[in-house]
Amino acid sequence: MRFGWIGLAGLAPLLLLGCVSGDDRPEPRRPAAKTARKPRPAPRAPEPPTAETRQCLADLDADRVDYRTLPTQDFGGGCVVVGAVQLLDIGVPVSGLKSMRCPLARNFSNWVRYGVAPAAKQMLGSDLVRIESYGTFNCRPIAGSGRLSEHGRANAVDIAVFVLADGRRVSVLNGWQGADDQRRFLRTVFKSACRRFTTALGPEYNSAHANHFHLDMGGRPLCR
Ligand SMILES: [Zn+2]
Repeated sequence: MRFGWIGLAGLAPLLLLGCVSGDDRPEPRRPAAKTARKPRPAPRAPEPPTAETRQCLADLDADRVDYRTLPTQDFGGGCVVVGAVQLLDIGVPVSGLKSMRCPLARNFSNWVRYGVAPAAKQMLGSDLVRIESYGTFNCRPIAGSGRLSEHGRANAVDIAVFVLADGRRVSVLNGWQGADDQRRFLRTVFKSACRRFTTALGPEYNSAHANHFHLDMGGRPLCR
């Protein structure tokens, strides 16, 4: 893990982001007893990370991604979060990221760095400066089904907007059927997501995804 990822000039937008999602700020490590003021999630005994998680954390270190590891948490209703991290710096600020299972975080970071950012530069002619997400963890069933969403395992992320250095906001909602260059860019990064995530769902899938890409590392391969 490393720090010092922003200069003073970068502080103002970050502070703004902090206002939008103030509870995303990393908290200093505290003794377990002090977390008791939150009734949920139920604290669990610390568990050693699995080999998969250890490898994934090593990958994040090698990729110079800044993150913090999160303890295993059981939110009830099957929503157990194991081997999760919170991404702090992947090179491009992303709003709304909370806990993500490590492989999701790793693939997301790689998608942004090696898929989205180069595509923005090449196809839209401007640097990618921010991504807006609708979040990661959310303990809920898949809409219209009784099955737990991958969000309930911190194994999914919803991406809504790509912001460029020239001020353009390329949103899934408006850009998917928008100007030609934005349509091509969004389809390119969506296809790229299909290669990096198990499941990638977008506006063509159903109306619930008209305004975001749902990307997850669940068991069912699907790209639509
Ligand atoms: Zn989703």
